[in-house]
Amino acid sequence: MLQADFYMPTRLFFGENALQRCREMILRAGRHAFVVTGKNSAKKSGALDDVTTLLTEAGISFTVFDGVTENPPLLTCYEAGKLAAKDGCDFVIGIGGGSPLDAAKAIAAFAANPDLAPAEIYDDSLRTRPTLPIFAVPTTAGTGSEVNNYSVLTLEGGRQKKTFKAADSWPTAAIVDPRYTATMSNETTLSTALDAFAHAMESYLSPKSTVFSEKAAVFAATEIFDVISAMPAAYDADMRTRLSLAATAAGMAISVTGTGFPHPLGYSITLLDGIPHGRACAAFAGDYITYNEKCENGRQRVAEFAAAIGTKPAVLKAFLPGVAAVELAFSEDEIAERVELIAGAKNHVNSPYVLSKEEIYDIYRAHFLKK
Ligand code: NAP
Ligand code: ZN
Repeated sequence: MLQADFYMPTRLFFGENALQRCREMILRAGRHAFVVTGKNSAKKSGALDDVTTLLTEAGISFTVFDGVTENPPLLTCYEAGKLAAKDGCDFVIGIGGGSPLDAAKAIAAFAANPDLAPAEIYDDSLRTRPTLPIFAVPTTAGTGSEVNNYSVLTLEGGRQKKTFKAADSWPTAAIVDPRYTATMSNETTLSTALDAFAHAMESYLSPKSTVFSEKAAVFAATEIFDVISAMPAAYDADMRTRLSLAATAAGMAISVTGTGFPHPLGYSITLLDGIPHGRACAAFAGDYITYNEKCENGRQRVAEFAAAIGTKPAVLKAFLPGVAAVELAFSEDEIAERVELIAGAKNHVNSPYVLSKEEIYDIYRAHFLKK
């Protein structure tokens, strides 16, 4: 018998005047906002100005924390959470790509529970107070973090990621205005679009997918494939709107299913070798298709997914890693170092075909072994 549950407690404001349309919700959220950003993009995109103007006009005080770096460290969130608690902040606004949005979720949990040690954030029994309300304003069109409760954090030492996910770390509202993505370079636009495509494909193939997550995944993948396969010299406003909507839809899809093995395989070359998250995941998209085609169910799902977006598995297999263009060369020891960091990830079981550790080695060797 069919099961098709769907839960998304985040109110979505998409498109023109999204921030103004969310104004009343922001005014009701509290008296002192903790605004979480990276170094430049929140300012450059105009989103920070828009948010601080709205807060000032409404008489809401705020603290701006612009210390979130890419692949946000758990420790940064811990320290920012303490600062938010010290300043008496009662809600959090994350502005930026996935890094500031994910950080905002962890900061909101630490701010409400300032006595937690950093690693204790992962222990539901120790986070006794509810997370502060979170508003998410994306400036990239990729992660979909604005519509899910995942916060992907880098652990101490900078070599591994671990996702924090609390029942109350969903944003209260997602404010998605594609104009804020207009300042992204072509490289970041493409990489973040590849991330959203990876979300759509990995979600579609996940054994946890439902009729709703599949529709969202197919919509997202169709839009992204259409926009990026033309390899435009520049992304116009219409393309950016389509990519933003698609990334948000893919974020909804993974909120149901989570992601599959290209994500952990990508994490180590992001953290150790500086490959941006979207390109790092897309580098393994061909392997994702090839391995899933080894089992009957996987072969069927891959064929269905490709047909639904108007293409063929063989085209995706060549196109996605080709666009990701990840060129790295490692010794056997360097490969072993990377595989050890990712072999234990939970995502490996989230696809029709489950990779063994030896197969992760095979994939890494095939891509990267120094000749
Ligand atoms: P990001 O790490 O947030 O940002 C990448 C770069 O793009 C930064 O230099 C950033 O600048 C810049 N940037 C962002 N918006 C810009 C704009 N409008 N104009 C110009 N530059 C801009 O990138 P991301 O790919 O969106 O996020 C990746 C992170 O999200 C990873 O940590 C990944 O693990 C996580 N993730 C989370 C989920 C989820 O479901 N929660 C899903 C996938 C990935 P600034 O540093 O100045 O901001
Ligand atoms: Zn991703």
